[in-house]
Amino acid sequence: MLQAEESHTHTNPSTSGIQNGMANGTDGGLAELDASSLQTTFTPSPRKVPDTDSPEFKSQKVCTDHMITASWSQSRGWASPELKPYGPFQIMPTSSVLHYATECFEGLKLYRGHDGRLRLFRPKLNCQRMLRSATRIALPTFPPEELLKLIVKLCAVDGPKWLPKSRPGSFLYIRPALIADDPAIGVAKPQQALLFIIIVCFPSLNFNQRPQPGMKLFASRDDMVRAWPGGFGYAKLGANYGPTLAAQAEARQRGYDQVLWLLGKDGAITEAGASNFFLIWKTKDGRNELVTAPLEDNIILDGITRRSVIELASTRLAKASENLDPLTVSERKIYMSEVVEAAREDRLIEAFAAGTAFFIAPVSKIGFRDNDIDIPMQALDSGHYAKAFETWLTDILYGRENNPWSYVVNEEN
Ligand SMILES: *Cc1c(COP(=O)(O)O)cnc(C)c1O
Repeated sequence: MLQAEESHTHTNPSTSGIQNGMANGTDGGLAELDASSLQTTFTPSPRKVPDTDSPEFKSQKVCTDHMITASWSQSRGWASPELKPYGPFQIMPTSSVLHYATECFEGLKLYRGHDGRLRLFRPKLNCQRMLRSATRIALPTFPPEELLKLIVKLCAVDGPKWLPKSRPGSFLYIRPALIADDPAIGVAKPQQALLFIIIVCFPSLNFNQRPQPGMKLFASRDDMVRAWPGGFGYAKLGANYGPTLAAQAEARQRGYDQVLWLLGKDGAITEAGASNFFLIWKTKDGRNELVTAPLEDNIILDGITRRSVIELASTRLAKASENLDPLTVSERKIYMSEVVEAAREDRLIEAFAAGTAFFIAPVSKIGFRDNDIDIPMQALDSGHYAKAFETWLTDILYGRENNPWSYVVNEEN
């Protein structure tokens, strides 16, 4: 269940005060990551913010004026983090990350509310997940709350200009990442690492602005598996994504949008692209049920959108509401044979993918072994339930609903 979360108003954590980042460690004398020791150098050449509908904005190449970096070494621990102009890194060709994918990352968004405030959505969960990912790939640990303070700081500095009050209802994408940059070719646990946080201009990814609405999924084949028991599917490691790109390109070529990742000869559904997958169907005993893959075998990513959908379903749909019949929630293995059977018996109600990047993306079709399974979309470009989740979450993200899941960023300019 949920850990205690931040309440809905905050003052920004202090990043002022001078401390020696080398001297305040707790871990055997090594310095901890410490946001209060941040060193700041503002850019001498601020850039122009592109229009949201410009090709530049949509290219996913444009970052805000600044980034935050922090370097770590085995012998000294974390150095003081730096806020500095966005720009290239210098790393040696022998760097571990370039050869062995010693990397993990996070993805979250900064939202400009209709009330003019900047918000993050449950960002503490991203920071805790980044720590789990770092641990899985032998990268250094850090206090998640220090990472959160650094994320908030960068948002507070660049948010006012890059996500102006004149753009309510829009967002930027925040990418924290941690890489091993040891300049040594040996296959070994990293002794040097670099944490960085950047903020990227990012388009709204919408699968409905075309003749046939909805996301179309292409079920993976047996010879192309995304994650497996004992693997690292639950961690946001770069190593999980590169190897999926060929399957993704093939799906696109066949007219689908994303891969529906199956596992095992029984075709257990795990995830959709880099999003969690939800299905709503009528059970054989006549209940409306929301099903999604379970977390327990560490195959799927513990998505924050996934958790939020489950929690909303449990709290707001346990009883009938807003013209929606009640839903029961089940986190369990879902096999393709069950989906095929439910389609045949007309029990499929709707399906959607859920994640920060695609948000709630209604699914209209699943291509599975030479056949297409059509999924209903009762609300024209969505299903009624997906629409309700989308509306509830949008209201929280953009401040129409006051909710402890949102984290208000106090702007600095
Ligand atoms: C990031 C990601 C998700 C979605 O997680 P959110 O926290 O909801 O953004 C789901 N699956 C995979 C594989 C991911 O990488």
